[in-house]
Amino acid sequence: MYQWILVAAMSNPWALQSTPSSGTAEAIGGYAAGCLQGAVAVPEYGTGYQILRPKQKRFYGHPIMRQYVLDLARQARKMGLPDILVGDMAMAKGGPFNSGHRSHQSGLDTDFWFRFATKKLSTSERNNIQPLEMVDFSKNKVNKNFSSQQITLLKLAAQDPRVERIFVNPPIKEAMCEQFRDTDHAWLGKLRPWFGHSAHFHVRLHCPVGSKDCEPQKPSPAGDGCGEELQSWLNKPAVVSSKPVPNPMPVLPERCDMLLSKKHK
Ligand SMILES: [Zn+2]
Repeated sequence: MYQWILVAAMSNPWALQSTPSSGTAEAIGGYAAGCLQGAVAVPEYGTGYQILRPKQKRFYGHPIMRQYVLDLARQARKMGLPDILVGDMAMAKGGPFNSGHRSHQSGLDTDFWFRFATKKLSTSERNNIQPLEMVDFSKNKVNKNFSSQQITLLKLAAQDPRVERIFVNPPIKEAMCEQFRDTDHAWLGKLRPWFGHSAHFHVRLHCPVGSKDCEPQKPSPAGDGCGEELQSWLNKPAVVSSKPVPNPMPVLPERCDMLLSKKHK
């Protein structure tokens, strides 16, 4: 496995990029086959948040994603939540990670942990902290860790009009439907059931204005998604393992090659 990762790293030039490209910010291509021009970094600490795994340098994004992260953290602080923990965003020029998620390539995807930080964590703590599980897979329900703080954060995250969708494990969607379906559900449809999101949720933003080569995703079905669609997910056998899987190299738009060339260094 270790050997495989080394081979993948050598053949994946995107994972070797340490600085953003010049040029105006543009998300290029799709969420799972794209790259990012003019990326900006989110500072490791700020009001209401801390960046996780800083040694991986996946704290880059399109400027609208940076603004979204800062805004969400500020709103969370205002609501009295502890610091939110920001996981993978994108690499300095976007592109595919060696393993793990297939998306996060165009600077418009960010993972937020359901675990909070109740104090300022050191760099080493932020590199090594473990996620907190929100789902009891034996019952296919949320566990007691999923409480009012997680619900508040997820609602804040989903209500933002910049958000295209948010991936959460099916029992988490179920818990949010139970809480809000009858009263306040305009944003519930943005929460999309997907396996592998039981300790974090994954926010995806719409293609930004000015990113003419950004490929939007097929829109989610209308409605809150709390009925049959959710049921069909709850009936599927849960995929529990989140071991990193090596990613196949996607075919990227031609413009992405330019970002790797010398003049864009
Ligand atoms: Zn993700």
